Amino acid sequence: MKKETAQEQFTNYLKQEKHRITPERFEVLDYALEYNGHFGADDLYVLMKTKKSNISRATVYNTLELLVKCKLLSKRNFGDGLTRYESNFERKNHDHLICINCGEIIEFTSPEVQEVVDKICDELGFEKVGYSFNIFGKCKKGNSCKNLK
Ligand SMILES: [Zn+2]
Ligand SMILES: [Zn+2]
Repeated sequence: MKKETAQEQFTNYLKQEKHRITPERFEVLDYALEYNGHFGADDLYVLMKTKKSNISRATVYNTLELLVKCKLLSKRNFGDGLTRYESNFERKNHDHLICINCGEIIEFTSPEVQEVVDKICDELGFEKVGYSFNIFGKCKKGNSCKNLK
């Protein structure tokens, strides 16, 4: 049920934008929606390769961009210069706390933040496509919060 709807959404987008509908693109869609949490394009590529997929790196990269455009994925930047993606499908809009020490990413949902974003856009006559709200700091894991770099 869940997947059918995402696949329909993607099919409609590809048709509308006159992109080719290929099984590889839907393979990337499946893996991307099943991925738990935030991932880089290379993480997904490596995962698919370990599952014996014949996918090419280029297909993974450009399909992820198509999935962002049709709003099935969100694109995130957590301040380390890497682009990450996460499933948007049937998920609540949320924001992130990022530990600058260990890289832990904590998600939270705040209706107040959404309201402020909408209010600002309203006031300035701005049509919102997306927004990014990250809080950087140190997590509360204490000793198990280890510097990754
Ligand atoms: Zn997230
Ligand atoms: Zn930490």
